Amino acid sequence: MFYSASVAKTAARRLIEKYKVMCPIDLYNLASKIGAEIYETNKLPDTILGSARKSNISIWIITVNTNQILERCRFTIAHEIGHIILNHHPAKYHLLINNNQYKERQANIFATELLMPSKEFKNIYFNCHITDVLGVANYFQVSKQAASIRIEEVCGIVVVGYK
Ligand SMILES: [Zn+2]
Repeated sequence: MFYSASVAKTAARRLIEKYKVMCPIDLYNLASKIGAEIYETNKLPDTILGSARKSNISIWIITVNTNQILERCRFTIAHEIGHIILNHHPAKYHLLINNNQYKERQANIFATELLMPSKEFKNIYFNCHITDVLGVANYFQVSKQAASIRIEEVCGIVVVGYK
């Protein structure tokens, strides 16, 4: 899985560089730059977090289930952008119970790098000394769980109590 992980990370970094994206990333702005529109809905069942599909006029439509906290909506949108950028079509609905598949993992790696770029992450953690989970989560507008996993992944520091 090393190969697919590095492809996903590289794709996210390229997108960040190309559009000079700043943290916390404006996903609606980024989506418009890649030709995607985001639709929010609270009518989806809880098992469906979001989807990406191409409309009949070749615009990408990202649908996000807003029955999640804002930070998880952001992760879902970043995940769906990952499916688009990584050419994972035909895109389909993404089910919570079905998210261990290869493309799902790749889209998650992409989303993590997009929302919390490793370079910026190390900078704010080690140079700006934002090291508490809540501070990191607020800075990147991610969930505390995602922040704690990323602290461990990028900084090698184990955080307990958020997973
Ligand atoms: Zn997915």
